[in-house]
Formats: sequence, structure tokens, C-alpha cells
Amino acid sequence: MTGTVIDRGRVTQLLAAERELYAERNPRSRAAAAEGAAHLFAGVPMTWMAKAPGGFPLVHAEAHGARVVDLDGHELVDFCLGDTGAMAGHSPPATVAAVVHRYAEAGGATTMMPTEDGPVVAAELARRFGLPTWSFSLTATDANRWAIRLARAITGRPRILVHSWCYHGSVDETFIVLDETGRPAPRPGGVGAPWDVTETTRVVEYNDLEGLGRELAHGDVAAVLMEPALTNMGIVLPEPGYLDGVRALATAAGALWIIDETHTLSAGPGGCTAAWGLAPDIVTLGKAIGGGVPIGAYGLSDAVREQIAARPELDLVDTGGVGGTLAGNALSLAAARATLTEVLTAEAFGRMAEVCTRYTAGVQGLIDRHGLPWSIAQLGARAEYRFCAPAPRDGGESHRAGDAELEDLLHLYLVNRGILLTPFHNMALMAPTTTETDVDAHLAVLAEAVEALA
Ligand code: PMP
Repeated sequence: MTGTVIDRGRVTQLLAAERELYAERNPRSRAAAAEGAAHLFAGVPMTWMAKAPGGFPLVHAEAHGARVVDLDGHELVDFCLGDTGAMAGHSPPATVAAVVHRYAEAGGATTMMPTEDGPVVAAELARRFGLPTWSFSLTATDANRWAIRLARAITGRPRILVHSWCYHGSVDETFIVLDETGRPAPRPGGVGAPWDVTETTRVVEYNDLEGLGRELAHGDVAAVLMEPALTNMGIVLPEPGYLDGVRALATAAGALWIIDETHTLSAGPGGCTAAWGLAPDIVTLGKAIGGGVPIGAYGLSDAVREQIAARPELDLVDTGGVGGTLAGNALSLAAARATLTEVLTAEAFGRMAEVCTRYTAGVQGLIDRHGLPWSIAQLGARAEYRFCAPAPRDGGESHRAGDAELEDLLHLYLVNRGILLTPFHNMALMAPTTTETDVDAHLAVLAEAVEALA
């Protein structure tokens, strides 16, 4: 095997050519961006949509299953799937029917009254994650915020502990990293942080049990909030014994263990919690479970529920800081009920993981054939390659392996040839409707890109 060396000059040159091609291919999306610039903050409905390697974002016209059609009429194989929000595929028919029924036929999206769907969704999540009691938010971010509040209320402790380069939504306490010298520091780029995050949060690298033990020993951590495998800085998988170690150390230190399964739900119907037999105190999730309709959720162990129940002074009903007007609304729960019971079923997860294994093996084959210094990791229906080998073992290592220019080039090269990846990294997610043919189409284009770079 001869190791392919990525030619940096070639990266820059190809990126310029792909940007030109992108601009040519997408005149209507380009015009929409110009229109958006007038009154939209950053020119887009949500500022992160401005992240566009081609200079302007593609505008979504239609999306069904694992396909998106943009404003210029290109049909793209969608491996982004709304960065997990559409893991069930776009507009799955069962969810569409439930939403139409709730919103149009039965009528009413938000009435301040519970519907019959709530108990069904909660029971399904309880069965999947092994935690008996559930509540709902509109986003995973809020599920995390509220879980943190409950943990602080129970333990009477101020701090939480997270992993360096983690992401749990826009939760103030989580924007912390270990800097180059290994010291806790605010994550670069933070906007208007309300306080010094090093005062509220302890931070360790993923897979570092010794560091975790040391930080927990301060005795001031209410909860360890973590993804069971990191998914927001590439996919970083746990080393053998790591997650058992986290459970044991958290218990010994009197801290709760909150597992955020928002992305790692890709591992199976009950996320990594079920797939790996984990025993968290609280699980948080969101995104995919509503089939694209906003919903978040958090599940509590019996012990957590009892400890909260023993504190009648906590205002969980009105303005105690846990809740939102539209949380638990009728539309979200109708969508979640249909998505969980009819779309993201155990059978669907089996198929998604199978298709993803083909994706992963294909990319690994390409890496091997070219001797590329890259690695790929898979977590059920989700896979991601990083520009380093061996695979990173923590967020810091993965962060240092970032290569924004190469990433932009690959995204553009793929999108110009009908393949959509998640814009913030090289993540590919399989929906129940993603096929082997889709996976092979991606691989053919990626192989062409790699050849062009050699
Ligand atoms: N948890 C994790 C692990 C996430 O990756 C994200 C978003 N990418 C969130 C929570 C927050 O989700 P949302 O932005 O939908 O609130």
C-alpha cells in the first residue's frame, strides 16, 4: 500500500473550482441568499445555516425519506438528515398521518391540556431506556437544562462536569474545554457567556477515568452530563470499562449521571443506554423522536423521582425554572408517538445499522486502498470519518485533527454530485429508507474526490 499524500495546493485549487461549480449549479439558492441578506440575521433563519462551504446555503424545496430536493431542482441523497432531527427520514408517512390528524382533523396543537399520546410515548421511552418516568421539552437543549436543575436541586451542589469539546445544545454550563495547557477554559467563540464557566463546570477529557476521579473528588459536582460516545467532535467511542468506571465514580462521589442520547440514539431503539446496558440516573434526548417535529424528553430513575417528590417546596408547576409553554404540546406528542411506534422501530434500527456498516466498510476500504491517515467510527446508524489515524480517543485529540479546508472541499465535491453530509463535520446518518445504492453512490463520489486529491 502506498500512502496517498493529500496535496495542500491541490486542496485549495479544487476548492476554488468546486465553489465555482456550486455557484453555477445553484442560481436560485444564490438568489435566495441575496434576498435573505436584507432582513435575516446572518442572512438565514437560524445563524448556523450560514455555515456554507460554497458561500451560500442550498435552499430546501422538498424532502422525503432520505432525499432532499433543493430550490434548483437537484435531488440529493441526504446523509445529514437535519443533523439527526430527521433520522426517521423526512416526513415519514406514519408521522405525517398523525400530525395531520392532530393538527387538522382532531385539531389543536397547544391547549395547555394533556392528550392521550403522552402516556404512550412515556411508556415507550421507559421500555426502551429502562427509566420509568418521563417529561417533555421542545428541544434537547431544554431537556439538558432541566435535567441539570433537577440534579442541582437533589444534590444541593453547584457544579456539573462535562467532557472537553462536548456539545449538549446551548446550555451555558457546557461551553468549556481543556486548553493547550490542559487547563479548563471557556470554549473559544462563546457569545455573551453569563458567567465564567470555570466557576460552574468541571471538565475532563473523554476516556480519562483518572481525571474524572480527580475532578469529582472536589465533592461539588451535582451531575456528570455526557454523551455515552462523543458525537459532536467526530465519533469518539468508549474504551473497554470506561462507562462502567464513570458510573462507579459518579455514584461514589454522590453525583448523578446524566446521559445525553440525542445523537447516540443511532446505536439502537434505546440508544447506547440499552445497547450497552448502562444505568444512568437521567437520560435526555430530542431531535429524532418527533420525526422532525420539535420535541425533547428526559427520563428519571425511581430514585431521582422520589428525591424530587420529597421536596414539595420545589415549584415544578409554575415558575420554578423547569418548563415551557409549548413543552409537551399535543402536536409534538402525536408526532413522537407515531415516530417511535411506527417508524424508528427495532426492525428499522437493525436495517439502518446494516446499511451503515456497509458505508463504514466502504470508507475504510478507501482509506486502506490509499493509505490515507484517516479513520472512521460507526455508532449504529451513524458513521463519521476523521482526518487522523488511529481514531481519536478524546475530544481534544479529535479537535486537533480538524481540517476545515479539506472538510469544506469534500462537502462541496459531494454536494455538487448529489450527496449531502452534515455541514459541521463528516457525519453520515442512515434513515430507515436509506439504501445500499445510496451508500455506494456516496462511496463512488468520495473515491473520485480522493483520487483528485492524490
Ligand atoms: N445534545 C446533543 C448531544 C446534541 O448534539 C445536540 C445538538 N446537536 C443537543 C443536545 C441540542 O439539541 P437541540 O439543538 O435540538 O436543542
